[in-house]
Amino acid sequence: MKVFKFGGASIENTERAKNIASIIQDYSHDQLLVVISAKGKTTNALEEIAKNYFNHNTTRANELFEQLKADHDQYARELLQDDFAATDKKLQTLYLEIEWILNEEPVRDYDYYYDQIVSVGELLSTLIIVSFLNKTAEQAVWLDVRDILKTDSNYRDATIDWRATQQNTDQLIRPLFEHKNIVITQGFIGSTDENNSVTLGREGSDYTAAVFASMCDAESVTIWKDVPSLLNADPKIFPNTVPIEEITFHEVIEMAYYGAQVIHPKTIKPLQNNNIPLYVKCFLDRNMPGTLIHNTDKKISYPPILVLKTNQTLLQVTTRDYSFITEDNLSNIYKLFHSCKIRINLIQNAAISFVACIDSHAAHLEELLTLLHEQYDVKRNENLFLFTVRHYKQEVLREELKNRTVLLTQKTRQTIQMVVK
Ligand code: ASP
Ligand code: MG
Repeated sequence: MKVFKFGGASIENTERAKNIASIIQDYSHDQLLVVISAKGKTTNALEEIAKNYFNHNTTRANELFEQLKADHDQYARELLQDDFAATDKKLQTLYLEIEWILNEEPVRDYDYYYDQIVSVGELLSTLIIVSFLNKTAEQAVWLDVRDILKTDSNYRDATIDWRATQQNTDQLIRPLFEHKNIVITQGFIGSTDENNSVTLGREGSDYTAAVFASMCDAESVTIWKDVPSLLNADPKIFPNTVPIEEITFHEVIEMAYYGAQVIHPKTIKPLQNNNIPLYVKCFLDRNMPGTLIHNTDKKISYPPILVLKTNQTLLQVTTRDYSFITEDNLSNIYKLFHSCKIRINLIQNAAISFVACIDSHAAHLEELLTLLHEQYDVKRNENLFLFTVRHYKQEVLREELKNRTVLLTQKTRQTIQMVVK
């Protein structure tokens, strides 16, 4: 069995949806578990709806949801033509579930509502795609991933219950392949044991693909993207990128962790641990070589790999009474970050201060600042970048840093990281 993952861009319009359907059909001599995201920018649109709803802008929330419905209806009509009615019924049921939420006052916290609303994007896209695949031949089956992928109730960043999910996979997914070669399911979402919807964090569909690959002992995972292969840097930021044909899991997890938007960082562990190779292929031209990511002892020589993470904030936390930043203060500060679910991208500490580089848009940042202020002095520096270079060379650094001010540097033999302005 193979696992395929298609992201929002690969199905953003009906042309592209037809293209991925033909890719799926061409590979369907193998058993395929296909994980699909919400189409295009649907998740962003749903985030807007969730925000408006929670801020009591019910009219706006409903208005935006009407737009989203119209957009999906048009897309489904175009793809399904005469077969639209049957799918429309299912779409209507999903719409209704969201409308029920939108027309009641919020009584729980934002993250809960976010997940109930945002998770519908993947359900809609997969329903439409599976209907399209089955227009000609009934080869594919739609699976509601929430029946399989079980998590805790840490909304918006749920942690997978591996045991329950494995059990469901064995009981419910394997039998599906006895009758059909293609199983279509949703990335990014799951459910709690009370059957509330959850999400796994933005761009989490890659992770879903990896989870199922490891649970089904798949022979490989392929992530289909709109780029020919992995590159050593984001071409939207850096002009002279080079393709990478082969790379280790270790290298990719470092890139992803520091903000390269290539693959969701959590994707690597389940694949690496189970020795399942990951291919990145281009859905625009499936004959391009793509990239192979795997465990290998082979010595691969890499170009410098550049990652620029935008929207960074430096927090400087200083003790008021001149007590040292040693284990007690450190663990206290870490606890506060942890309690607000804020990830630290880089830290440095000095005698009485602790500096952390974090995402400026971290969800509970204001809450963290309030907590820190109770005990420490806090300075905040905004609009920064975290620049990471693996396999760095001096001339590359010189070139890239020409117009930037470096506020903080950390380096090891392989990696240099700088917070820059
Ligand atoms: N649709 C979700 C998002 O845009 C998940 C994903 O694309 O992987 O974040
Ligand atoms: Mg996406």
